[in-house]
Amino acid sequence: MKTDGQAHATRTLWNLLHAWWRMMPKEKRSLANADAAIRQAREGIDFLAVLPAQAAQAVLKTYFRAWKNCWEGPADAPNFKGRIRTVMSVDIPQGRDLNITRVHRRWGMVSIPKVGRVRFRWTKDLPVGKRADTENRITGARLVKDALGRHIAFRVQTLEAEPAPRQGPEVGIDMGFSVPRALSDGTVYEHGEWLTGKEKVRLLHLEQRAAQRKRHRRPGERASRRLQHTYDRIAGLRAKAKRRAMDWQHQTTTRIARTYGTVGVEALTITNMVKSAKGTVEEPGTNVAQKAGLNRSIHAEAWGRTVTLPAYKTARRGGTLAKVPAPGTSRRCSACGLTTSGSRESRAVFVCKNPDCGWSGNADHNGARNVLHLYRRGLALVPAAGRAVVRRAKPAAAR
Ligand SMILES: [Zn+2]
Repeated sequence: MKTDGQAHATRTLWNLLHAWWRMMPKEKRSLANADAAIRQAREGIDFLAVLPAQAAQAVLKTYFRAWKNCWEGPADAPNFKGRIRTVMSVDIPQGRDLNITRVHRRWGMVSIPKVGRVRFRWTKDLPVGKRADTENRITGARLVKDALGRHIAFRVQTLEAEPAPRQGPEVGIDMGFSVPRALSDGTVYEHGEWLTGKEKVRLLHLEQRAAQRKRHRRPGERASRRLQHTYDRIAGLRAKAKRRAMDWQHQTTTRIARTYGTVGVEALTITNMVKSAKGTVEEPGTNVAQKAGLNRSIHAEAWGRTVTLPAYKTARRGGTLAKVPAPGTSRRCSACGLTTSGSRESRAVFVCKNPDCGWSGNADHNGARNVLHLYRRGLALVPAAGRAVVRRAKPAAAR
């Protein structure tokens, strides 16, 4: 489909832009210079032409926005977009080009530049037609493709009152190993398996079949249509698991943002964690998905979202998310504050080896309590969602 080409072009353009940015001296990184570089690239590289000029401009805008978000708020610096983990997507930056019409209670039609009219399932309340005004309207859309199909996400602008700043209860969250999500107050969020027993068996079966077919392939030979079909079915099951994980994440983070005013999370460098398998852009890792394993990859990505989702969800409710630089939260005792060797008995159990303390409990709960303690001690200097978090240092609170 034409949108695939557009999605590839979008990613390429982003990477070109990022390479350009890294090459340019600081004073030359202006929007005008970047725009000129993009124009030049579009003239020089044929397949970039499939991207409408507006969509190219949208990439430029998003890229500069990404830096702004990084400088002002919770986001990390923009990076290259790899072929494997990047979601294929095309941006339609202007709402008026979409020409959305409702054709049925459950179906709508939308115009995609260079593609034409496309039908979509009407699942959300959209401000269209008489219901649209200057304050409440659709300002653009993004067409996303994953293993389960194509989706369209509309950017909707609505008028909302600024939330009143909220103090609320404070909570620390730790990246769980034995339980999916442990909070400092003892709350634990659990989830079942992402795939049912039957689905898991099917996935294993498909993976074995793919491996076998691959073994019989001569080097350099293209994947056969049957093998490609197997790959697609594997990708479909993985996407299903991922979507269920995502749903769970949204539900739990919404509950956390609703319950607590301040959420402290460990400032882990998630990128480093994933990078080892992913490799670098110059030297990409091979068979990343297979090596990482389905659950591990979901787990790693899930932690990233444990930070990004509450960041905007708390901000929307007037709360704050604070990233706490807290190395060693898994080895420090949350009761006495000491780090003694051998305190972590196993992945799940923490027993303090300080003879005057001897606290024991769930290792993830211990970690979450540490995050909260360190935040309260004023170590949380990384503000999130644009709101500065300045806390006076308190003496080490032993609890
Ligand atoms: Zn202790």
